[in-house]
Amino acid sequence: MELADKVALVTGGGSGIGAAVSRLLAARGARVVVADRDEAGARKIADEVGGLAVVADVTDPAQVTDMIETAVGEFGGLHIAVNNAGINTGSGVPTGETEFDTWRQVLAVNLDGVFLCLRAELAVMAPSGEGAIVNMASILGSVAVPGAAAYVASKHAVVGLTRTTALDYAQTGIRVNAVGPGFIDTPLLSERTPEAHEELLGRHPVGRLGEAEEVAAVVGFLVSPSASFVTGAYYTVDGGYTAR
Ligand code: NAP
Repeated sequence: MELADKVALVTGGGSGIGAAVSRLLAARGARVVVADRDEAGARKIADEVGGLAVVADVTDPAQVTDMIETAVGEFGGLHIAVNNAGINTGSGVPTGETEFDTWRQVLAVNLDGVFLCLRAELAVMAPSGEGAIVNMASILGSVAVPGAAAYVASKHAVVGLTRTTALDYAQTGIRVNAVGPGFIDTPLLSERTPEAHEELLGRHPVGRLGEAEEVAAVVGFLVSPSASFVTGAYYTVDGGYTAR
């Protein structure tokens, strides 16, 4: 129960990796705010972990402000934030054929959303002198795949945003890190064909996709007191994908 007395926010907490992170943080004693634009998902996971469901779209500054105010109002503070909400819309299309609307939609959630959440979280954490933040990047924050310009650009940007924010707050008691999952078996990958699935397996030297719980375990470390000297880092969780 090393996170007893801590309040944790998880965006995109109603599904996949965010749900696994919410379960792990609650199991370690944190009071968890499960935030998602999908109300049913947020409520299901919040009920399961004894947390608070908040419906919020991370691309909307007003909804992000309300989300943080609700968390602080209900639980009395904010010590841990996992900025995890993300989408992978419109992949499979070369850069030159990518619609600007698709580009903007992906960047709005994956990058603007992380920035807006960071800004609102830091406004609460900075005065208290305590905070541990994890931004969900991807292995595609350091390498690329074809046909994913917006997603790859957004995740590279999240790594840079994480590093600069860590430097800005290094002397304030707030740590900011990023996690880079390989391909993880979640609803985000639900549209893959059997052929695409086999191809994805082959890209991971361990010969399988990751599980959401395996990503949550690394998030759990990064927000824990054991990671007290870890900030500005980017931890890949990828079955060896980027080691090749
Ligand atoms: P997921 O199962 O689709 O869960 C993402 C959750 O975030 C969904 O409930 C989704 O709601 C929500 N969400 C999307 N846009 C939102 C917004 N604007 N505001 C609030 N909530 C929003 O996906 P996942 O695989 O767990 O992915 C979680 C994170 O890990 C993402 O940042 C993703 O890029 C990253 N990641 C995933 C993989 C992978 O292979 N799965 C690999 C590397 C990195 P909707 O269902 O309504 O969209």
